[in-house]
Amino acid sequence: MDIFDKCYEFTKATEYRDKGLYPYFIPIAENHGPRVLMKGREMLMIGSNNYLGLTKDPRVQEAAIQAMEKFGTSCSGSRFLNGTLELHEEAERRLAKFVNKEAALMFTTGYLTNFGSVSTLLDRRSVVISDKTNHACINDGMLLAKGIFPTVTIKRYQHNDMDDLERVIQKIDPDKPKIIVTDGVFSMEGDIVRLPRMIEIAKKYNARLYVDDAHGMGVLGKRGRGTLEHFDAFEDVDLITSTFSKSFASLGGFIAGKKEVIDFIKHFSRALIFAAAMPPANTAAVLKSLEIIETEPQLVHRLQQISARMRREFQAMGFDTGESEYTPIIPLVIRDFDKTLGFWKALYDAGIYTNAVVPPGVPADRSLLRTTYMATHTDEDLDEILDRVKKIGKQMGII
Ligand code: PMP
Repeated sequence: MDIFDKCYEFTKATEYRDKGLYPYFIPIAENHGPRVLMKGREMLMIGSNNYLGLTKDPRVQEAAIQAMEKFGTSCSGSRFLNGTLELHEEAERRLAKFVNKEAALMFTTGYLTNFGSVSTLLDRRSVVISDKTNHACINDGMLLAKGIFPTVTIKRYQHNDMDDLERVIQKIDPDKPKIIVTDGVFSMEGDIVRLPRMIEIAKKYNARLYVDDAHGMGVLGKRGRGTLEHFDAFEDVDLITSTFSKSFASLGGFIAGKKEVIDFIKHFSRALIFAAAMPPANTAAVLKSLEIIETEPQLVHRLQQISARMRREFQAMGFDTGESEYTPIIPLVIRDFDKTLGFWKALYDAGIYTNAVVPPGVPADRSLLRTTYMATHTDEDLDEILDRVKKIGKQMGII
């Protein structure tokens, strides 16, 4: 047996590449926001998480350039030792304020934020109760904790099913320290956590509440403060995290909560201590994006208006858009694996880039095209998208 045997036996990607149906790792040659250049062709982009369109905002780009000139291209080490910049601390103060919390801590990616925070909060007596479809980084954080403390208890409840959450939590020893962890907006299907009921359950069973709002921040709420603003629930959620790779037009992530909890994570999270800090340009991009979100709520409102229009129009055409609501993530649920890839390819050939999501990203019978919108899509872009999707959807018998 050779450790590489499994690599030689993995042929599925090549099989779909050979059929011309492989939808992943397609390189972008130029990024113009709602339109990109791919393999020499201009494509309408409805597969990006650049929800506010800020990655190409000249103010954000300029802030990143200036920070790079001042601090260089890298922090050359961990936040713990040589890698903390005044810029990081300024961003943490402003992010904490943005989500009404005492303190915040930034990690180098959104993935590391949850991986490093969830794994650090759990100890040998803790119980973590997690939505079955939470993002992989939450799951991986739980698994790391379990690796370090085999007596950690991991419980999972059915997706966004608060009755099931209550069934699971009521069986747990009341003396054990508990934390419920959930995505605010679920990344593949754009549905929102049933937070009011979850808060009641957390209070009733004395559990802490942790919300990963990667896809909610900059998107939901009148001022773009995310799922907690949407439900007016800042006081009732103990820890809130988000990523910078979506509305904040950068790379990295943060967690916010009580200052003692944040300070603990800061001193014990392996993903923070043993990884290099967020680069200067990325940190400055976050600060500028935050300023724009705070001072230009019309950008958030435009995104919300676009999301409502696209969802309404797709539903009127006869597409199944699942449980998605309010958010710019609108899934077109096809169910069948090959039909989903066929639909993806037909749209790609017609100049529209979407994300094909197939198992294990979704359950076996739920393959879908994940479409996402930006505040910078024009009405003409949207008209063009709707026209082409309708035509191809009809031709392929999907609608
Ligand atoms: N949480 C959720 C819900 C996500 O969807 C993602 C990424 N798509 C992450 C965390 C990780 O963030 P990043 O890709 O910025 O590392």
